[in-house]
Amino acid sequence: MPRPPFPRNVREFQRQFATEEACQQYLAACRWPEGFRCPRCAHQRAYTLVTHRRWECAACRHQVSLTAGTILHNTKTPLTLWFWAAYLMTTDKRGVSALLLQRQLGLRRYETAWMMLHKLRRAMVNAAREPLYGDIEVDDTWIGGPQPGLRGSRQLKGRHAVPILVAVEKRGDRSGRVRMSVLSDFKGTTVTALIQQHVAPGSTVYTDGLAGFAVLPKANFRHVARTQPSQPGGADLSS
Ligand SMILES: [Zn+2]
Repeated sequence: MPRPPFPRNVREFQRQFATEEACQQYLAACRWPEGFRCPRCAHQRAYTLVTHRRWECAACRHQVSLTAGTILHNTKTPLTLWFWAAYLMTTDKRGVSALLLQRQLGLRRYETAWMMLHKLRRAMVNAAREPLYGDIEVDDTWIGGPQPGLRGSRQLKGRHAVPILVAVEKRGDRSGRVRMSVLSDFKGTTVTALIQQHVAPGSTVYTDGLAGFAVLPKANFRHVARTQPSQPGGADLSS
């Protein structure tokens, strides 16, 4: 799920997430990055039902929960506290303990802090494992540098360099999540298997002109190949 930028410091955080409603606006922006769209009638205007954490379609009255399918669903803890917990967790590299979280947030019960941390940690692992989707830039390269004078698969001779495939989500002018893999060669079956492992079907994959990528449409990806002028001294992998 593409997320709007998360605040980088405490002042930004306070300004952005001061109220339950502001937190819900953020969740809505995560759910509908292009603006609200009713799942039933595709209408684009909605009323906010803040106490229920739902949005209601202005046309057909269909209600959509902002927290359904997330760790925040049915929580009795205010979203403002959940957002603080997420902020403290992601900004403190040493890792926040349940006890510290309980103190920082002024929670009455230690168990609440422990449960929040536990759920947030699990959600972070899930987000890291979900396949990339949307517009994906895929590039092939060699770690260890291309061997001069060797073209294409002849690069594998002697294994001085390791073939690598990198996939990056394009998020406007920023980049999203990244996956990187070592592979045995740049053949169509090899690169396709790796892309299938890391990228959700239906995504658009942007690549260079490497021949191995040409089979991507057969695996349910939209494929945009961009041909670049070969760089002097660089490996021409399309040969
Ligand atoms: Zn509707």
